Amino acid sequence: MKKLNRKEFLSKGTLALAGSSLLLNAACSGSESENSQSSISSNPQKTYKWKMVTTWPPNFPILGDGCKLMAQWVEKMSGGRLKIQVYGGGELVPALEAFDAVSSGAAEMANGGAYYWAGKVPAAQFFATVPFGMNAQQVNGWILCGGGQELWDEVYAPFNLRGFPAGNTGVQMGGWFNKPINSLADLKGLKMRIPGLGGKVMSKAGATVINVAGGEIYTNLERGVIDATEWLGPFHDYTMGFHKIAKYYYYPGWHEPGTVLETLVNKSKLAALPEDLQEILVTAIMRQNTWTLAQFESRNSEFLAKIMEEEGLELRVFPDEVLAKLRELTQESINELVNSNPMARKIYDSYSAYKQKAQAWSELTEKIYYEKIQ
Ligand code: CA
Repeated sequence: MKKLNRKEFLSKGTLALAGSSLLLNAACSGSESENSQSSISSNPQKTYKWKMVTTWPPNFPILGDGCKLMAQWVEKMSGGRLKIQVYGGGELVPALEAFDAVSSGAAEMANGGAYYWAGKVPAAQFFATVPFGMNAQQVNGWILCGGGQELWDEVYAPFNLRGFPAGNTGVQMGGWFNKPINSLADLKGLKMRIPGLGGKVMSKAGATVINVAGGEIYTNLERGVIDATEWLGPFHDYTMGFHKIAKYYYYPGWHEPGTVLETLVNKSKLAALPEDLQEILVTAIMRQNTWTLAQFESRNSEFLAKIMEEEGLELRVFPDEVLAKLRELTQESINELVNSNPMARKIYDSYSAYKQKAQAWSELTEKIYYEKIQ
């Protein structure tokens, strides 16, 4: 092979650098993104001060911590050129106004879950979680390499937003119950706090869904205003103290098998950053994506052991007939959503086609590994 002279080497290197500005759009396909024009030289000394609002209470373990760490990584990687101030829910804007704050540019970034915006952008729910849907590694496969990111960009484009995966809870727990669930009949009239599509499914099954804010769940469960609640997993649930007031801890979390934590970025403010800062920001969000799932995995296994030591608390699996019915009602709820919303249909078609392939692969790998080996 011919040796490159320095000039040829540099020009090839420059091309490779331009092609590397992927910002996830083309992370797996290798195609060039629209953001490949270089703007590093525009004003290399300029410092950017950004605001990130979150939907989490201030100092919320793992989810809030991850955002603060991401901001620190960005500041270090950029040599202080991009500084992000992270706010807890309610500190700058109310938690559920985070979407509008970033869309309008009042804040540059936000962190939450795409199902929080179901009233505004119903089609975006597929970028949070789907009952009986994909787990964390499958959904990362779909978003990062299976066409999901492109659809996420498309659904948020009218709002001048981009959404990125910034963590995953892994499979959640089914929730805390003060009434046993032995059959479908036990769901009738059950007063449960369960948001999102899962809540829709539970109400189809006859439950009364009562959604209260995170800080009010404990008191409502203790006073019998609700009979049951779902939350996250052993670590966060233990810190909420639910084991002190509930009799049964049910699994699995059929309603949230791998919830994606979403970071929203104002699209035009992102595109206006020098190219290296854009890459630094997206790289830090991707590190947060990995870090958050790793935290959930390790903290949940640690706290499951604590919960199992609690006296008078019973860990129970949902009966098969209950899960089968909830699966059927999930499909019914999804059909209602996609039949009335062409964008939801487009995203769901991509999601379910990917899920089918991923499941066939997992049959021969993860599933059999857990069943027969681990
Ligand atoms: Ca949950």
